[in-house]
Amino acid sequence: MRILLVEDDPQLGDGIRIGLQQAGYAADWLQDGLAALHSLEVENFDMVILDLGLPHVDGIRVLEKIRTAGNDVPVLILTARDTVEDRVKGLDCGADDYLVKPFDLDELCARIRALSRRHNGRSSPVIKYRDIMLDPVSHSLVKDGKDVVLSGREFKILQTLLENVGRVLSRERIEESLFGWDDTLESNATEVHIHHLRKKLGKDLIVTVRGVGYMIPKTN
Ligand code: CA
Repeated sequence: MRILLVEDDPQLGDGIRIGLQQAGYAADWLQDGLAALHSLEVENFDMVILDLGLPHVDGIRVLEKIRTAGNDVPVLILTARDTVEDRVKGLDCGADDYLVKPFDLDELCARIRALSRRHNGRSSPVIKYRDIMLDPVSHSLVKDGKDVVLSGREFKILQTLLENVGRVLSRERIEESLFGWDDTLESNATEVHIHHLRKKLGKDLIVTVRGVGYMIPKTN
């Protein structure tokens, strides 16, 4: 899952970014509202963590603009303790949740998981598909009652495909959900991970749609 963090406080921003990466998310960090708007226009994110007091374009304005543009990415706003009005305004402008500073990184990660479940229309954190159960919280995968060990990237690719069952995802889309701007990636890495996933989980699970990408088909 790829998260855009917009926070102008260098210490807080760096701390959150590191915390998100340690929790297994691909996190990109920007420090002003204008850069965030540009980035949201041209790139896909699975979630935005948005500070409200930002240079150039403030957080409320960023939120209004992306919602007006039809972007329904889940947005969690970060607010200072004394600004109830900002919080209300943020929610009214289309934020999905908020956290008041200072907050605990564990709480932030729990909110991210909850928001992601809500956005994907699931109330339970575990994703079930045929004989597979994937638990994003404990990072565990069970197939036919047995634990299957996956690498971190294999797990994320499988999670992304399972969150989009019936939809073909391009290699670029899969890679975007996995990696931040800082990460380098060999050109055939996704193919290699898919190959390993097929070896571990059976070759019919992930379908290659030639020239388009990969998909896990809907179950009947
Ligand atoms: Ca700020």
